[in-house]
Amino acid sequence: IALPASGQGGALVLLDGVTPPPNPYGCSHSVPWFTARLGGALLELSGSRRDMPLADCLAAAITRTADAHRDTCDLSHVRTPQATVVVVRWDADRVEHLVLSDSSLLIEAPDGMVTPVLDSRLDELPHSVRALGAAARALPRGSAERRAAGAEYGRAVEALRNAEGGFFTAAADPDVARRAVTGTTPRAEVRALAALSDGATRWVEIFREGDWTESFALL
Ligand SMILES: [Zn+2]
Repeated sequence: IALPASGQGGALVLLDGVTPPPNPYGCSHSVPWFTARLGGALLELSGSRRDMPLADCLAAAITRTADAHRDTCDLSHVRTPQATVVVVRWDADRVEHLVLSDSSLLIEAPDGMVTPVLDSRLDELPHSVRALGAAARALPRGSAERRAAGAEYGRAVEALRNAEGGFFTAAADPDVARRAVTGTTPRAEVRALAALSDGATRWVEIFREGDWTESFALL
């Protein structure tokens, strides 16, 4: 999104819903149901409560969404509906941002320089867990051993979901908002923004097709 030269204010929200497990996850609602409510509340609060820091807006939006199904669902389930988050809010003077989990924000300066804002906790999992992933990838593709090792790695990662020392998504606990990466940039230093889900960041991070500046130019 290109910021209007008029200095007009605005906000954007990107949520990437986490795919639910095939087995029951304590909730009768879908991930789209969850992201529609969380995203709606987050955009509304970001726009209407300019006195509230974005982390507080996220916490309030999580609480409001949890309240909508707290009486019918088990919100303590580790796979309760959840999402990764990017929020940006701007006015005539400044651009505020918040990034949680593996969605990312690119900030383009007037001179074309692109600064990525990343929550790298998924890349900083304990060595023992990353070693499981590397071991799985070293096994022959399509083999039963690779599938078994991959499943073991998956379980180790899942054990770190919204757990101390692991990685965090917006689920039902408003306290997660204080774990988000937040910051402020002077409006004069921002020409345009791009919020990317992890599917879009693969172009840079997995496929190594180019850097963040080239990714932004492609967008
Ligand atoms: Zn529910």
